[in-house]
Amino acid sequence: MSNLEKMRTAAVILAAGSGKRMGSSTKKQYMLMKDRPIIYYALKIFQESFIDEIVLVVAPGDQEYCKKEIVEKYGFDKVIQIVEGGKERYHSVAVGLDCIKECGYVFIHDGARPMVTEEILERALSCVKEYRACAVGMPVKDTIKIADEAGNIVSTPNRNLVWMVQTPQVFDYYLIKDAYHKLISQEEKLQRKGIAVTDDAMVVETLTGHSVKLVQGSYENIKITTPEDILIAENFLGR
Ligand code: C5P
Repeated sequence: MSNLEKMRTAAVILAAGSGKRMGSSTKKQYMLMKDRPIIYYALKIFQESFIDEIVLVVAPGDQEYCKKEIVEKYGFDKVIQIVEGGKERYHSVAVGLDCIKECGYVFIHDGARPMVTEEILERALSCVKEYRACAVGMPVKDTIKIADEAGNIVSTPNRNLVWMVQTPQVFDYYLIKDAYHKLISQEEKLQRKGIAVTDDAMVVETLTGHSVKLVQGSYENIKITTPEDILIAENFLGR
């Protein structure tokens, strides 16, 4: 890989979820927030940042809509491909990673997190250059309990060591490609063990053994999941 390629950064932005918890007929990534679709906000931050290229992963059947109504309409010319995602989030990430050519670092971001900022991207870039793998997050404010399936408390982790993890999660190109390659080839085995993959840091930790550094995100970098999250994010945007 040339020095120029080593410097390049790519992003996989995920918008292939069904948004069931939103309870709306419109998929959450296309719901309007201050007159713009939710997915617009993350794309705009990445478009205007140092990121070189973006792969947008959308639900089956949404490619044409996203191309016309989002990518072309708002001039997001760093989006080099719009591809169909898969059943689980990790399938969508794997599809997105397949579209990325050799580069230095890959940013993986939930399109449902519109409040990401350029400062967060910059902090994550400095961190990944040092550690090869990092995940944006914030220390929790509440005490967290681990419960059993019946809802009884089993333990109380030390609050000072508990973080809520957000996105972007950022990795050296070869490390994340290797981790996802292993994940897809061992998918059935992991399913049999009952391991549910919910973020990319977990894929790297579990399948490569490489540690992942936490880097400060923000308490505003929320994931839009249920209707009240839109009201909260609109409030942040209004400031
Ligand atoms: O479902 P969850 O809220 O964890 O989704 C996080 C992000 O991953 C969202 O931006 C969603 O659109 C995306 N996703 C995806 N493909 C899936 C499931 C979720 O791209 N199969």
